[in-house]
Amino acid sequence: MIPHVLPVYNRSSLSFTHGKGVWLYAENGRKYLDFAAGIAVNALGYSHPKLVRALTRQAKKFWHLSNLYQIPGLDELAGKLTGNTFADTVFFCNSGAEAVECGIKMVRKYFDEIGQPKRYRIITFKGSFHGRTLATISAAGEEKLLKGFEPEVDGFDHVPFLDIEAVKNAINPKTAAILIEPIQGEGGIRVAPKEFLQNLRKICDENELLLFLDEIQSGMGRSGKLFAHELAGIKPDIVAAAKGIGGGFPLGACLANEKAAQGMKPGSHGSTYGSNPLAMAVGNAVMDTILKSGFLKNVVEKGEFLKSRLEGLQKLYPSIIKEVRGVGLMLGLKVVGESKDFTAKLRDLGLLTAPASDNVVRILPPLIVENEHIYRAVELIGLACAEIKK
Ligand SMILES: *Cc1c(COP(=O)(O)O)cnc(C)c1O
Repeated sequence: MIPHVLPVYNRSSLSFTHGKGVWLYAENGRKYLDFAAGIAVNALGYSHPKLVRALTRQAKKFWHLSNLYQIPGLDELAGKLTGNTFADTVFFCNSGAEAVECGIKMVRKYFDEIGQPKRYRIITFKGSFHGRTLATISAAGEEKLLKGFEPEVDGFDHVPFLDIEAVKNAINPKTAAILIEPIQGEGGIRVAPKEFLQNLRKICDENELLLFLDEIQSGMGRSGKLFAHELAGIKPDIVAAAKGIGGGFPLGACLANEKAAQGMKPGSHGSTYGSNPLAMAVGNAVMDTILKSGFLKNVVEKGEFLKSRLEGLQKLYPSIIKEVRGVGLMLGLKVVGESKDFTAKLRDLGLLTAPASDNVVRILPPLIVENEHIYRAVELIGLACAEIKK
C-alpha cells in the first residue's frame, strides 16, 4: 500500500525536537552536529535570534499581502541585493527551481524583446542540478531526473562540465544563453575554475549570449563571497538564488542586470507567494547578517581551516578519502564506496552531512560555525574512517 506521504524520499528514522546554532536535538535524546545545514539552507544555523525576531515581529502584523500592494521589506531587500551584486533588479519567488524558471523565461523574453525570438536555446552542463520542475529537469538533462517524465522541455543543449570546446561547438544561431552552477552542488562539489568562468563570459560577449548562473547552493556567502562568481571576477547577466537566502524560510530570487531583464514587464511573470512579507522580513535579516563587516572574512577563515583539517584526514586515510574538494564552507569528500553509506555512518556517530553524486559527501556547515565545532566534526570523520578501515 502506498504510504500517506508520497514516497519520493528515502528518509532516515531520525526525528528532531529543536535546533540551536549548529546543533540539532533529537527525540532519542542525542544531539547532532549539523554540517549539512538543511543542504546549505540554514546558513545562519538554527534559532538565530535575529531571524526569529524578524519573523515573529512580522507574523504579528500580517503574513500575506498580494502583489497588488506595496509589501514591507520588499524594496529594501531588493536594494540590498542589487547594491551588493552585479544585479539591477530582482524577482522574488519561493524556491530554487522557481528562481531558475524565472531566469529561463527571462532569457527567452529578452531575445523576443530584441526581435530575435528564434533564439531560445540554453547551453547547460552534465552533472548539474537546477530543480525539479519540468523545465529545470530538462535543463539539467540528467537521466535520473528525467526518466519517465518525458517528453522533456525543448531548448537545452547539454555539454560536459568544464569542456570549453564543447561549449563553443554547441553554439548555433538559436543559442540564447549559457546556464551553469559555478560550483556544482548535487553533482559532487565540482568547482568551475575561475579561468573557465572567465572564458564563458568571453564566449557570451563574443556571441551575444546571456550568462546565467545557478547560485542556489553556492551563493549567499557559502563560498566566502556573497556569490561564488565573484571569486572569478566576472559579472553574469542573470543569477538564481535560493536556499541560504531565507535562512530556512522558503525564499528564492532571480537577480538580473537591466539588459537581461528588459523584456519583463507588468504581466510577464508572477507568483502568489513571491515577496511574501514573512519571507522579506527574514531575507532582510539574513542579508544584514551576511553583509556585516567581517562575516564573509570569517567564512573564508573557517573554510580554509576546515579544508586543511580534512586534507590532513585525507593523508591519514588515502584509501578511504580520495579527494577533498570545494571552497569556503562548500566542501566535499570524495570517498571510496557510496557516499550515502558514509553519511549514514557519520550520522550514527552524531555528525550530519549530505550525500551527492560522484561518491561525494557534502560538508556544508552553517556559516556561523566555530573552531570547536570544526575540531569535533573532523574528529568524528576520522573516527568513521578508522571504523571503515577496520
Ligand atoms: C537546491 C538547488 C536547486 C533547487 O532548489 P529548490 O528550492 O529545491 O527548488 C536548484 N539548483 C541548485 C544548484 C540547487 O542546489
